Amino acid sequence: MTREEFANILLPDVLHDRAYYEAKYPKRNLEAGAMVTRLAPSPTGFVHIGSLYQAIAAQKLAHQSGGVCFLRIEDTDQKREVENGIEGIINSLKQYEVSFDEGPLDNGMDVGNYGPYIQSKRKDIYQAFVKDLIIKDLAYPSFLTEEEKEAITEKQKKIKSRIGYFGPWAMDERNMSMEMAVQKVKAGLPYVIRLKSKGNFLKRVVIKDAIKGDISIPENDMDIVLLKQDGIPTYHFAHAVDDTLMHTTHVTRGDEWISSLPIHVELFEALGFKVPTYAHLATIQKEEDGKKRKISKRKDPEANVMYYLEKGIPVKAVELYLMTLLNSNFEEWYLANPKGNIQDFTLLFDKMSVGGALFDMEKLLNISKNYLSLLTAEEVYQNTLDWAKKYDSDFANLLEKEREVAILTLNIERESEKPRKDFAMYSEVKENIWYMFKENFTENLKYDWQKITDKTEIKHILDIYLAKYYDPKDDNEEWFNKVKLLCDELGYASNMKEYKQNPEKFKGNVADVSTVIRVALTTSSRTPNLKDIMAILGMQEIQRRVGLL
Ligand code: GLU
Repeated sequence: MTREEFANILLPDVLHDRAYYEAKYPKRNLEAGAMVTRLAPSPTGFVHIGSLYQAIAAQKLAHQSGGVCFLRIEDTDQKREVENGIEGIINSLKQYEVSFDEGPLDNGMDVGNYGPYIQSKRKDIYQAFVKDLIIKDLAYPSFLTEEEKEAITEKQKKIKSRIGYFGPWAMDERNMSMEMAVQKVKAGLPYVIRLKSKGNFLKRVVIKDAIKGDISIPENDMDIVLLKQDGIPTYHFAHAVDDTLMHTTHVTRGDEWISSLPIHVELFEALGFKVPTYAHLATIQKEEDGKKRKISKRKDPEANVMYYLEKGIPVKAVELYLMTLLNSNFEEWYLANPKGNIQDFTLLFDKMSVGGALFDMEKLLNISKNYLSLLTAEEVYQNTLDWAKKYDSDFANLLEKEREVAILTLNIERESEKPRKDFAMYSEVKENIWYMFKENFTENLKYDWQKITDKTEIKHILDIYLAKYYDPKDDNEEWFNKVKLLCDELGYASNMKEYKQNPEKFKGNVADVSTVIRVALTTSSRTPNLKDIMAILGMQEIQRRVGLL
């Protein structure tokens, strides 16, 4: 029996050979230096913040170099799959404006010439390459049952050997004659196809990682599974075949894969492929009780990229924050170019973190506050409305009805040298501006009175103020002067210095009086510019509010 006949018996349904697929996916026609990168998530329906981090890196690296970034769905592990998992992933990434050039982007249909981009549709391709390895005596069928595997592990534990299927442990099956193997196949025994490893664990393989530098690890000597019993490849094998046929130049992936590098290098070599450049990205970690750990899908709600969308943290702020985690010099660049386009920043491997990237929610929220403070009032209004339509329909209705008041309010102390930074997320806008809307401002409100709490005095201050001093036409300075005049009339200190020298001479001071006006009109003792608030409310509404006291 020839090895070809043997391979045909082991994998009888393969339509094409390796040469066919190599011809089908020719080298990409790109300029020198153009990177081809990818994101290769499993269809769990869930995009981890770490995947978004990887996606942003992959996309940026490709596009800044005139290259291509594609999405490949890795669904070879059916245990991890969920219904609508692929749409879930594509939808989340779309909301974050990650733009792929190729992938199952058109409702699951492929865009691009290097597909299929969903691994479960590539079975024939993998099998064609496995068949080639069998023909070259670099792979063999393994009929080991679960019990036999467990027995080997037990023996290995007993003699304190490394665990796995390698060297002496694999000899029987490696040396099995083709005739014997065919007999087993004909008898209906299930089998996987394994790599006939040529590695030596005592030697080291050195891999140059674009981020981490030289990585030296013992060679692989495990006869790892290439094709599972159902003819579906393992991650390792699919990675080698796909990233070669799709012409990935830079494999940007999580650094949890570093320990598998020796397997991957051996596979690329066995297949006669060029090893791509690896760039292992630091894992996103969080600090808890002084200890660092991976952000976990199970424990941390912020692991899911949907979390930020639900809170109304702008997509752009998340992107800016992830960029600061990706490149240590990004923040400096952004501070110098606060309205700059991220496209103009060049992401560099040597500015990427080698260890873990520590996720700092407070910093993200600060970036978000800053980002929101630089938008126009109209933009904040529109984005808040879009958010509210999905997550708070009552507020959305109110915003639509009170568009003008909302925009005027959001415009207070905006578009100035030092714009206000009141909120970090669209979900916080409501608590910041609710009191501006007439229909929210009714009876039974909770007022945050400070120094002056006596109702009669409060009413007295407001009555005199509105009757004699308040004029909507005043500018800031005049407005404040009038409050001071009011103080003088009522026995409050209009000058803080004088007040501090002789507090007993006064009922209180100008700050106490303006707080009374502020709280009476908004319930809050901390608001943006009160004069602007009053101008938006208008005299009639101001009077109505005073009447509620
Ligand atoms: N499917 C792998 C995962 O979800 C991707 C690893 C890679 O990017 O190659 O972890």
